[in-house]
Amino acid sequence: MDVKALESQHVLQTYRRAPVVFTRGEGVYLFDEDGRRYLDLISGVGVASLGHANPLLAEALAEQARTLVHTSNLYFHTLQGQVASRLASLSGLSRTFFCNSGTEAMEGCLKFARRFWHTSGHSGRTGLVALEHAFHGRTIGSLSVTWDDHYRAPFAPLLQDVVWVSPGDPAALLSAVSDRTTAIVIEAIQGEGGVRPLSPAFAAAVRDAQQRTGALLIADEVQCGLGRTGQAFGYQRLGLDPDLVAVGKALGSGMPVGAVLLSERVAAAVSAGDHGSTYGGNLLACRAALVFLDALTSGGLQAHVQEVGAQFAAGLCELAGKHAVIREVRGAGLMWGLDLCVDAAPFVQAALRRGVLINRTADTVIRLLPPFVISSAEVEQALAQLDAILSEGVQERAA
Ligand code: PLP
Repeated sequence: MDVKALESQHVLQTYRRAPVVFTRGEGVYLFDEDGRRYLDLISGVGVASLGHANPLLAEALAEQARTLVHTSNLYFHTLQGQVASRLASLSGLSRTFFCNSGTEAMEGCLKFARRFWHTSGHSGRTGLVALEHAFHGRTIGSLSVTWDDHYRAPFAPLLQDVVWVSPGDPAALLSAVSDRTTAIVIEAIQGEGGVRPLSPAFAAAVRDAQQRTGALLIADEVQCGLGRTGQAFGYQRLGLDPDLVAVGKALGSGMPVGAVLLSERVAAAVSAGDHGSTYGGNLLACRAALVFLDALTSGGLQAHVQEVGAQFAAGLCELAGKHAVIREVRGAGLMWGLDLCVDAAPFVQAALRRGVLINRTADTVIRLLPPFVISSAEVEQALAQLDAILSEGVQERAA
């Protein structure tokens, strides 16, 4: 089988893919066609929270597939209710809308925010305040609040009424938010933008702006939420109180599932037919989400992330002391960015050669999003590998 031809002839080339084809996984490892093992420190971009081929998840999915996979949202099934009630306990937001991806969850947040103001008799309240370096997805709505012009420019015009604010400038946020603002859109830790945590001062300005103007707060927790940072949600670290939360990625541990979590007052403004999804929250997706949420809450996974996260934090700071190429270490739990003084691409290639999967984002940042189940011994292994990769990447640039 000519794998290269299969990939290049008929698959739309929207990704620059790494030259490797994986055929199976086990825990924090992936295996390629030749049986070579790779330590996966990116987990399908923050998705494989329970690791690859997790036996509990595999068993639950197989059983669910033998029982019932899909009935559509014309009919209720109890798995949706169970997932929604777990998410409500974690977030304090009482309602869930189910979809299939993070982008869809963000699109839902934007629509429900608009609907809230429309229902309240303020249809003219259409402005959005979004942050520089933000990434919220690539549908027209979510792209409109995504910052990188490289993603946006070919698809203009997008939603027009967006004001951009630097996350380093709380005062700018306060002057940008007005009584015409539908919502402020944030990630507690910006992921694609370079693993940039929002500061407590910026969070205070967000709270202030909400109070002063009544603007809604949309927290995009697709990447930093659901235990990734060691807390249920990244916004909780900042003491924020969102009206709408988007989740995805870790929730299905590989099954495509996303969700919007809504406060009761926003939910009350939404009517039947306002939004929908044929697949959203089907039985297979919800079963995966339940396995994950069980592990996170009663299975001790969140405490585990805190423990190995602290180990990661200490090890990465040690690496920063040793390798001058590291400008800054940012993140929390199992979401880390090593901001380099140089392009991160050669380091990603060096890692692949050594059998380690990492990712470059915002040009200079090595991003790490390992599976939540990574063990302490595997963290040590990851740190030792990163030490070698940082030396190799520097040598490669010098050559
Ligand atoms: N929001 C954030 C913060 C993300 O990191 C991503 C994806 O990386 C998305 C939204 C889009 O999610 P998806 O790719 O599942 O549509």
